[in-house]
Amino acid sequence: MTDCIFCKIANGEFNTEFIYEDDNVVVFKDINPVAPVHLLAVPKKHIESLNGLNDKELITDLFFAVKQACKKLNIKEFRTVINTGKSVGQEVFHLHIHIISGRPLNWPPG
Ligand code: AMP
Ligand code: ZN
Repeated sequence: MTDCIFCKIANGEFNTEFIYEDDNVVVFKDINPVAPVHLLAVPKKHIESLNGLNDKELITDLFFAVKQACKKLNIKEFRTVINTGKSVGQEVFHLHIHIISGRPLNWPPG
């Protein structure tokens, strides 16, 4: 999708450093981190949200990418978050998994 920031990042248009990359997924640092570690795992294909994700292989690839990125950075304790929809905080409508770590986090989230 031409107007989507995460499509552009995944296409390499900004020379973003990828913590992990394979044929279907990239993982890169969030531009506005909420913790010392804040990464985003993003499918290369434009999918608006988890509601549009029906490809079992891509679901596997996304979670594998999360694990690979954490392994690479030696992160053993972390939170994964997927915001689905505006009312729960989704701002970028290209599916992404937040990986947040490096400080204590409260539960339940606000
Ligand atoms: P969400 O609110 O779940 O849609 O999360 C969107 C996330 O994307 C936020 O944490 C933003 O800080 C992050 N973000 C927005 N633009 C960029 C960008 N150009 N590069 C990296 N992260 C971004
Ligand atoms: Zn996109």
